[in-house]
Amino acid sequence: MHRFLAFTLLALAGAPAFAADPLVVYSERKEPLFQPILDAYTRQTGIEVQVLTDQAQVLIERLAAEGERTQADVLVTVDAGNLWQATERGVLGATRTPALDAAVPASFRDPDGRWYAITERARVIVHATDRVPAAQLSTYEDLADPRWRGRLCLRSSKKVYNQSLVAMLIDRHGEARTQAIVEGWVGNLAAPPFADDTLVIEAIAAGQCDVGVVNTYYFGRLAKQRPDLGVAVFYPNQGEGEGGVHVNVTGAGVVAHSDQPEQARAFIEWLLSAPAQRLFADIDFEFPVNPAVSANDAVAAWGTFRADPRNIAQAGKLQADAVRLMDRAGYR
Ligand code: FE
Repeated sequence: MHRFLAFTLLALAGAPAFAADPLVVYSERKEPLFQPILDAYTRQTGIEVQVLTDQAQVLIERLAAEGERTQADVLVTVDAGNLWQATERGVLGATRTPALDAAVPASFRDPDGRWYAITERARVIVHATDRVPAAQLSTYEDLADPRWRGRLCLRSSKKVYNQSLVAMLIDRHGEARTQAIVEGWVGNLAAPPFADDTLVIEAIAAGQCDVGVVNTYYFGRLAKQRPDLGVAVFYPNQGEGEGGVHVNVTGAGVVAHSDQPEQARAFIEWLLSAPAQRLFADIDFEFPVNPAVSANDAVAAWGTFRADPRNIAQAGKLQADAVRLMDRAGYR
């Protein structure tokens, strides 16, 4: 009803008649970074996209409350932890198509096809280039070593990125060893946990700490503004048996009660197409999911790495355990 009315009003206003209804996207992505990609979709297909931007938890609860009455067709959100929550709340429908399975590596999609990665982001170690040679760095686990005492900066444990990182450590090492690692991190902190990854990098640049853990695109943004930052990316856990870099995703899924699931699926397939992946890679220094698309030149300059091959959905399954463990370890 609402959609019919909106369409009628558009027609009355003299807007061009689109081939299909507008697509409604609930999104936790910064709008200035997402809108250019949505604009490209509309230019190419003639399909208008309406976006509602909010935090993932708010959007998931809203979808659950709206149920069959929802206007939403697609949910886009950062972090596999959030995507897992969405599947648990039952707000995403099965999306699986051969095209989507081919475009996205198995570790970066829901095993049941309810969400697919559209970008990848690595959570890496960053270090002060004048105080910490790369040769002194190795793994996330090593940052718990007492030789980093008073030298480590971390973002708050409230952020899902850190919950996912710790969840994947629990999956690898079990609770007891992971708690010892997190306690080691806390013991090494140079300052209370920060509210944002950018603040972690700035604290290293300012000499407040020597090493930190952040998502790559925060580093990319800051390094673009401040080429003389004196901070570099280090890809951890590259040694044999160390498991690889923790890579998380932004992902998209078709809303369970979308009334145009075919169009929603086609939209997600388009987000994974080479032109859209090129835009994602260049607008915010994230890694393309589609293997046919190369990383942005600035990102490629940080080198290559081996990613953790485990399915990132595991980060969602162990999220609650990770939150409790970080609390026990005194990680605020
Ligand atoms: Fe972020």
